[in-house]
Amino acid sequence: MIVKPKVRGFICTTAHPDGCAINVKEQVDYIASKDTIKSVKNVLVIGASTGYGLASRITAMTGLGANTLGVFFEKASNGRRTATPGWYNSVAFEKEAEKAGVYATSINGDAFSHEIKQEVIDRIKQDMGKIDLVVYSLASPRRTDPDTGQIYRSVLKPIGKDFESKSIDVMKGLITDTVIEQATETEIEETIKVMGGEDWQLWMSQLAKADVLANGIKTVAYSYIGPELTMDMYREGTIGKAKENLEETAKNITNSLLNLDGEAYVAVAKALVTQASAAIPVVPLYMAALYKVMKRKGTHEGCIEQIYRVFHDFLYNDQKVLDEEGRIRTDDLEMESSTQDEAISLFVNVTTESLEEDMHIEAYQEEFYKLFGFGLNTIDYEKDVEVIRGMPSMEKSEMK
Ligand code: NAD
Repeated sequence: MIVKPKVRGFICTTAHPDGCAINVKEQVDYIASKDTIKSVKNVLVIGASTGYGLASRITAMTGLGANTLGVFFEKASNGRRTATPGWYNSVAFEKEAEKAGVYATSINGDAFSHEIKQEVIDRIKQDMGKIDLVVYSLASPRRTDPDTGQIYRSVLKPIGKDFESKSIDVMKGLITDTVIEQATETEIEETIKVMGGEDWQLWMSQLAKADVLANGIKTVAYSYIGPELTMDMYREGTIGKAKENLEETAKNITNSLLNLDGEAYVAVAKALVTQASAAIPVVPLYMAALYKVMKRKGTHEGCIEQIYRVFHDFLYNDQKVLDEEGRIRTDDLEMESSTQDEAISLFVNVTTESLEEDMHIEAYQEEFYKLFGFGLNTIDYEKDVEVIRGMPSMEKSEMK
């Protein structure tokens, strides 16, 4: 199949398998170029196929030398459509693991369900022994409660008042005005159900109950705070309430892991173009401004640079410095006051006419296309490519 990008709104419905493989390899090479972090045996990554979770899995394999079990919700190709980028990323990851001689296995399904949790536990018992680190990196628009079957949906809305702001249609390169209606109480509660800490806690208690957590177990989930500009929409909006809940949950999990000498952390990471963040109103315009400033200053980082710091400077550093709430902070460079001042001034002053010159919007678009394996100059996108790619670990278990 000849695979080209097909963009609908803020998602791209196609992905290029070889482009995704190059993205994965680039991240593996980045970690390989850095100091080894520590030797760790087994890592479970929930939400392992794209964004921060994929970077965590790569850092675990290449920086910690760890066996990894990755859980994600992706679609394989049926030959008529391409697979999702997370599928191709995970195939490429498993191939990199094979080359490195490190064990890697993957489970594709709904991480919120009891069935997938049980499948993960069975796989750990069968192949790995005990887990030393659990990374929780899900970003999902909905969650089915595993006990009641009720479906909860997360929304990105302000609380208490409507939110009016400048926004952007990234793909068309248009500055727009947007009004987002305030959330209802039910919407707030549902967003907490989906993106808060309840499922993270469920995972940790099920894993502990099954006795598959090693002594000294660590677990980390990712959060975001961001600037004043997006405050009403993000941190003080529905998603912010869910993140507050996630941060509270870290404390509860640490308490529940006392007998294993375990620790749960929340890492507040930088705003980055991922499939999840592209969907948040106003945030893409802020990110375009931020990227422009940080790239000029040489402080720009992608998922892999961020996660290397999370692991190297914090999770596996006895001298780590946490913030007053006990959180890991790798949003430090984003929040630097001169960076913020410049990004906000760009945001406030930009018009459709000045968009390209002021913000270099093409760089943002390139970053978006790259998530799907497009825009890489080493790939000939006119060439026919095999889109059906099997997941090595799944093919092996089918053969058994
Ligand atoms: P992403 O969309 O790139 O990745 C989400 C992952 O979750 C994928 O692996 C996907 O397959 C998996 N997933 C979704 N629903 C699932 C389900 N039901 N079962 C199993 N797997 C499922 O997202 P991301 O931007 O990397 O976000 C990960 C975390 O990082 C989120 O908590 C997000 O809030 C946080 N974060 C993101 C940013 C940012 O700017 N992107 C900044 C700070 C923190």
